[in-house]
Amino acid sequence: THFGFRDVPREQKRKLVGEVFSSVASNYDLMNDLMSLGVHRVWKRYFTATAQVRRGDRVLDLAGGTGDIAALLRDRVGDRGVIVLGDINQDMLRVGRDRMTDRGRVSGFEYVQLNAESLPFPDASFDLVTIAFGLRNVTDKDAALREMLRVLKVGGQARVLEFSEVKAEWFKPIYDFHSFNVLPRLGKLFANDSESYRYLSESIRKHPPQDELKQMMVDAGFARVDYKNLSAGICAIHTGYKA
Ligand code: SAM
Repeated sequence: THFGFRDVPREQKRKLVGEVFSSVASNYDLMNDLMSLGVHRVWKRYFTATAQVRRGDRVLDLAGGTGDIAALLRDRVGDRGVIVLGDINQDMLRVGRDRMTDRGRVSGFEYVQLNAESLPFPDASFDLVTIAFGLRNVTDKDAALREMLRVLKVGGQARVLEFSEVKAEWFKPIYDFHSFNVLPRLGKLFANDSESYRYLSESIRKHPPQDELKQMMVDAGFARVDYKNLSAGICAIHTGYKA
């Protein structure tokens, strides 16, 4: 079987995404380091360091997975703040909670199994909503963006960190080789799961590029939408505000 999602119906895509992340959960952190040569840590640190957030804030980290973003934001909200880590996948949440305990981070976190397309929170519940390397896995991205806006307080910020379109011509062939040859091989070698990693490469390619995602955020109702490229556009950080 093959995790190429192009023509599969939505219900089936949801199920497949579930299987991919259950299958990669236990190897997820190692694979991130291998696949990005550790650079994902730098992107995540920048993403959280530049977030609009203050001590005591309530933050929602969607598709929070194994908790990298939540752990980094912890220091910014302090002891009075709360970080809600939401993910659709029970296995990722379980690994996330274990990692957090390993990092000595226990209080001030809530773990919620949820679908980003329909959030189990009232309007205006959060000062900041983040989603890192998660939006591309969501089937109905427009719904997820509308939900992010809905649960934000007025003045609050939404931040999306996601793979995007590489802008440096010279880098494109290297990047293609990495995604289509190196990644599935690493997946096979270290996780015995080349299909899941092939899916991840494909999902990166199909994700809307910078300006398209920006327009989707505008259409969802965000104000002052903007983006910043990281590493020549391998990733981009999109931001929007609730007016
Ligand atoms: N944010 C983490 C990070 O940066 O390391 C995890 C990113 S991981 C690539 C993507 C996560 O999105 C997985 O944990 C997966 O379970 C979750 N996910 C996929 N579809 C989702 C949805 N519809 N709602 C919430 N989470 C979802």
